[in-house]
Amino acid sequence: MSAFETLEYDVLVIGAGGAGLRAAIEASATGVKVGLICKSLLGKAHTVMAEGGVAAALANVDDRDSWKVHFADTMRGGQYVNNWRMAELHAKEAPDRVRELEAWGAVFDRTADGRILQRNFGGHRYPRLAHVGDRTGLELIRTLQDYGVHRGIDVHMEFTIVSLLVSDGRAAGVVGYERERGRFKVFAAGAVVLATGGAGRAYKITSNSWEGTGDGHALAYQAGAELMDMEFIQFHPTGMIWPPSVQGILVTEGVRGEGGVLLNKEGRRFMFDDIPDAYKNQTATDEEEGWRYTQGDKSAKRPPELLTRDHVARCIMREVKAGRGSPHGGVFLDIAWITKKLSNAEAHIKRKLPSMYHQFKELGDIDITKEPMEVGPTTHYIMGGVRVDSDTQMSSIPGLFAAGECAAGINGANRLGGNSLSDLLVFGKRAGEHAAAFAKTNARAGVDEAQATRAMDESLTPFEHGQRGGENPFTIQAALQEMMQSHVGIVRTESEMQHALVELAALRARAADAAVIGHREYNNGWHTAIDLRNLLTVSEAITRSALERKESRGGHFRDDYPDKAAEYGTFNIVTRRKADGSMEVVRVPLPPMPAELKQIIEEQKA
Ligand SMILES: Cc1cc2nc3c(=O)[nH]c(=O)nc-3n(C[C@H](O)[C@H](O)[C@H](O)COP(=O)(O)OP(=O)(O)OC[C@H]3O[C@@H](n4cnc5c(N)ncnc54)[C@H](O)[C@@H]3O)c2cc1C
Repeated sequence: MSAFETLEYDVLVIGAGGAGLRAAIEASATGVKVGLICKSLLGKAHTVMAEGGVAAALANVDDRDSWKVHFADTMRGGQYVNNWRMAELHAKEAPDRVRELEAWGAVFDRTADGRILQRNFGGHRYPRLAHVGDRTGLELIRTLQDYGVHRGIDVHMEFTIVSLLVSDGRAAGVVGYERERGRFKVFAAGAVVLATGGAGRAYKITSNSWEGTGDGHALAYQAGAELMDMEFIQFHPTGMIWPPSVQGILVTEGVRGEGGVLLNKEGRRFMFDDIPDAYKNQTATDEEEGWRYTQGDKSAKRPPELLTRDHVARCIMREVKAGRGSPHGGVFLDIAWITKKLSNAEAHIKRKLPSMYHQFKELGDIDITKEPMEVGPTTHYIMGGVRVDSDTQMSSIPGLFAAGECAAGINGANRLGGNSLSDLLVFGKRAGEHAAAFAKTNARAGVDEAQATRAMDESLTPFEHGQRGGENPFTIQAALQEMMQSHVGIVRTESEMQHALVELAALRARAADAAVIGHREYNNGWHTAIDLRNLLTVSEAITRSALERKESRGGHFRDDYPDKAAEYGTFNIVTRRKADGSMEVVRVPLPPMPAELKQIIEEQKA
């Protein structure tokens, strides 16, 4: 008899954010037995924090929109290293996924004639983000959760997976522990879907919740799957920067979509100073035109504040570096100015941006209807993740699938705002469907008990170190975040990143000696020691990939190679584990794009 409890499922989904819930719903709809595991309480996944909306070419507000425009916008935003097939599927299927959500009870803001309202967002040519105020993620999770719990999905909350089990080269299950009691369990499964979200916690300043420690990325990598595009980190241009206790918390792009403007300390709209060539013919020529665009004037072009996030973040950094920043090292974001334009501006701001109003009032004592906010870049999203098949979401390990932020491909070098929530729905559904099909058609790979026991033993070593006084995992985690922020952050150079690799090796040695005291029940130090292993793996993949990409593209900016190089637009960078345990970096050519999709891109450049 084994020393641990083993539960069995056909499909096991790790993560209960938008991607995980949608995958679990789809898998259970096929009649298979589905388990859903999450680190936090059900309903509390990071997706609840999504504010601005879900991108889908419903064309409710502007009938010129279509899947083709959405596809072209996504490819241009990703600077053409996206997986074109994923971008195509996403653009085509997102409208149906949003309508389905509506049919399942999701509440949306409405147009005057009762259709789902859509708002402007950076890099989207037309108003495309279906939303409910600035709480769209909460509504998405609430709807999926309500719908999902009635389908007979077994949910295991406050449960952390520490290892993926692989037998005969196939996904066989997972090992994890109850965060509350510290007890281990093994899950045997016919197919496993990773939907563990992002890795923003590798950085000091981030908008990500505590869960964003790159677990799925690291679990997949350690099991032998490939990671792709890890150099592409999105630094969102507008995070709170003051007071220090709230640094990094997101200020939604919706503020700019509603007419908010970025100003330097001289009160100048600096975004007009630098408009990339690829966007010149779609950007307003003056402030008045930009305002008209935000108010739905179809003849107007978008203001430069709504250029892609990578570009806006770099413009902000430039102002700060040139000494034209705000008192606390950012710039000003002003929505209060619209009182000059709208008679009901105060009520309008509170209605369209209720969370932002409360966030600044409660955390910063700022009334955004009357005064500007201070904002600066914050680590927000990882475009890189598990390399998956575009149609099925299966990784290079048969039976292991990935969807949502922990998977790579759809976003290329930079994600457009709103494209994540739609990604979760489109590819969550696909992952669930294909995982169920895999589980039905393949005999289950048996769980290797020795592998499971090893994973448990390794997880418990911090307690052994605690007996003799090793290092506090919180201290190591803080050192890692500080190091990644300064050496592999928004502006990168060869020498700093080489130094980062040296530091990472030292941090890994310290992490191997991380020590915790006390017992296993709700032991935060222990949770952090386990997160740390994942953060280190992800940080190394980011750094090695960023060193390999000797150019600047999207979220990856190198001071020593500030321009885009055509050669680097022909491949993705993939990291994988070699037999000796070291990390290998390889270039994988982009698959050729069909002529009809190329034509769509060309047509949309006009
Ligand atoms: C403040 C903010 C606002 C945003 N606004 C928008 C927006 O308006 N529109 C948009 O498109 N995108 C937005 N994004 C991005 C978007 O919210 C995320 O990319 C998306 O929600 C990720 O969803 P996911 O399902 O992949 O993962 P998550 O929602 O992050 O869920 C991950 C799940 O995995 C679980 N998990 C992780 N590790 C483990 C483990 N080891 N064991 C067990 N469970 C584990 C977690 O507990 C959680 O349940 C925003 C992001 C932030 C930070």
